[in-house]
Amino acid sequence: MHIDARTLPNGTLLEADLCIVGAGAAGITIAREWIGSHRKVLLLEGGGLQYEPAMQDLYRGEIVGLPYFPLEAARLHYFGGTTGHWAGWCATFDAIDFEKRDWVPHSGWPIRREDLDSFYVRAQPLFELGPYEYSAAAWQRRDPALVPLTLDPRVVWTKMWQFSPPTRFGTTYRDAIFGARNVELYTHANVCEIESNEAGTAVQGLRIRGWDGKEFRVRARHYVLACCSIQNARLLLASGLGNAYDLVGRFFMEHIEMPGGHLVLAAVPRAGMKMYEWTYGVTKARGELALHAAVQRERRVLNGTVSLEPGDPDEVAKSTFQAMPPAVVGAMRESRDRARADSPPAAAAPTPPAGRFYHVISRHEQSPNPHSRVTLSTERDALGMPRVKLDWRLTELEKHTFRAFYEVLGREFGRSGLGRVQLLDWITSADPGWPNTLSGGWHHMGTTRMHQSPRWGVVDPSCQVHGVPNLSIAGASVFPTGGGVNPTLTLVALSLRLSDNLKRKLA
Ligand SMILES: Cc1cc2nc3c(=O)[nH]c(=O)nc-3n(C[C@H](O)[C@H](O)[C@H](O)COP(=O)(O)OP(=O)(O)OC[C@H]3O[C@@H](n4cnc5c(N)ncnc54)[C@H](O)[C@@H]3O)c2cc1C
Repeated sequence: MHIDARTLPNGTLLEADLCIVGAGAAGITIAREWIGSHRKVLLLEGGGLQYEPAMQDLYRGEIVGLPYFPLEAARLHYFGGTTGHWAGWCATFDAIDFEKRDWVPHSGWPIRREDLDSFYVRAQPLFELGPYEYSAAAWQRRDPALVPLTLDPRVVWTKMWQFSPPTRFGTTYRDAIFGARNVELYTHANVCEIESNEAGTAVQGLRIRGWDGKEFRVRARHYVLACCSIQNARLLLASGLGNAYDLVGRFFMEHIEMPGGHLVLAAVPRAGMKMYEWTYGVTKARGELALHAAVQRERRVLNGTVSLEPGDPDEVAKSTFQAMPPAVVGAMRESRDRARADSPPAAAAPTPPAGRFYHVISRHEQSPNPHSRVTLSTERDALGMPRVKLDWRLTELEKHTFRAFYEVLGREFGRSGLGRVQLLDWITSADPGWPNTLSGGWHHMGTTRMHQSPRWGVVDPSCQVHGVPNLSIAGASVFPTGGGVNPTLTLVALSLRLSDNLKRKLA
């Protein structure tokens, strides 16, 4: 059932078994799981059914650390959430992403990759992806033209990605949610405060405020915050909840997505390069190159993958951003042009024949860092909520990772005789700073991280806020580390796991 919360009388009290705040990928995934159950579920969505500039403005905030996308453009604030303009790139995390790595401070999940396996299988169809197959060999069996490069897989392996159409959760699952008798979706229902008992050990209700000054409250047996990483932290910080150890908002993570080099193939492989090609809306699966876990251990680097984008040497790297809305692509082009103007012209290189030149585009995890964080600003939004300040920070480990990754990649291409990797100047430069091509991947993670101990995590391994038994968190904000690939498939798998736990709890 769908109700526009603007039609509710001032002072209304809604009651339910389960209340989910935020109807994006995580919130809609959980709500769908409860359709037809004997429990009453409220799904509260701050925005309406489509984009509204005034709603979007509630996301505006300050950037005080490394340069970052404007916050009001980095997430969508309406039913369906940011899947309204995500690109649909999906891949599973690797076993090493969950491990404690002694060279990566604060690494290690309290759950293992195996704990997520069955939930990945269930998440896969929600994104309208192909079969749950993520090995290059399986895809080659399906399509013999998908042939991995003959690199040593014990050094550099081909990690498979699949591409969602991309599924817009607000469109694809709208009828199911609207038609559910036990799930009530309230749009224009911005939660402004989580009310708790004095000790901060139980949520007693939610306060929802409208533009016209009207307020209503929700009371439920259990609450799930699914507002995405920055908003999850913002709500907890504004409500003074779950923050006994000053962890809420800390460990904000992104993927570093930027060009790192060029690949010039010695010859176009006989099998062609279809394995690594990608066309928006057409490609179902493709490979990217990654370092084997043993090499990551030996070189003490973070995880990540690189895509090979065909081009020519005079062109500035194409990137995943080509799939983005025109305004976003425009902003990217501007920053690229600034970067070009700032750098001395490169020495003219002989032009390799068509089909042999590739831009190498990185997507690397960052090291979890308590100083990379979201805090509250002194400015307030139109509903009276404090806005946020984002202080995105990177460490020397990320720089080291780029250097080591491209060194290993270059050596492996040289050894195999497949081609040469040319590193971009900034990778080898002694300058400790980042070039102005530095970019995140639009992936917000880590602000309410998961840890066994409340001293080091906001939520426990079941995604329940430590010390607040009736409050859980869904979304990438619970990730202790960001993994080498985009987060949404994993956060949806975790949401399914959370939903199963809550079914047992609220049985
Ligand atoms: C341009 C772009 C491209 C991307 N491409 C990819 C990709 O290819 N692959 C990938 O894995 N990821 C991608 N992402 C990231 C992906 O969109 C997010 O990981 C995913 O949408 C997060 O899901 P979520 O449910 O946690 O948050 P969201 O989808 O952002 O949903 C949060 C919901 O909560 C609501 N909300 C917020 N605050 C409140 C409040 N106070 N009260 C009530 N409701 C509230 C919001 O309106 C929203 O509907 C991309 C992101 C962007 C911006």
